[in-house]
Amino acid sequence: MIKYNLECSCGETFESWFQNSNEYEKLLKKNLINCYVCGRSKSVKKSIMAPSVATSKPSVAEKNVEQKKEFLKNVKSKIKELNDYVAKNAEYVGDKFVSEVRSIHYDKKKKRNIYGNATLEETKELQEEGIDVATIPWAPKEDA
Ligand SMILES: [Zn+2]
Repeated sequence: MIKYNLECSCGETFESWFQNSNEYEKLLKKNLINCYVCGRSKSVKKSIMAPSVATSKPSVAEKNVEQKKEFLKNVKSKIKELNDYVAKNAEYVGDKFVSEVRSIHYDKKKKRNIYGNATLEETKELQEEGIDVATIPWAPKEDA
């Protein structure tokens, strides 16, 4: 027995069993295969199955890895942009950041942008004092 997917020009598709492919050909020639919807036989034919296509497209997993890599690359370049911006527009004070930022905050005359090192704890303290500080990621120097 062999099962064929048949389609009729009326748009109906259906399955039908045959002894073998010869029987199908025989019945087809004799117009004995009727569409069960419109009853016509002449417009019925074997439906062509969509062939499987192999492509060289990356799999979903590979794609995800690529997207992740691309994403991280973009993030890194954005962080570098941010770092460059800060370096251009603020003065680096290194480990003196906490004391410097306090003196700037409490002595309004010396107002300037600075950046430097602070622990999360120190940053929290500064924020609690009402000092506007932000923790930003800093990209490691690539020429190291
Ligand atoms: Zn039909």
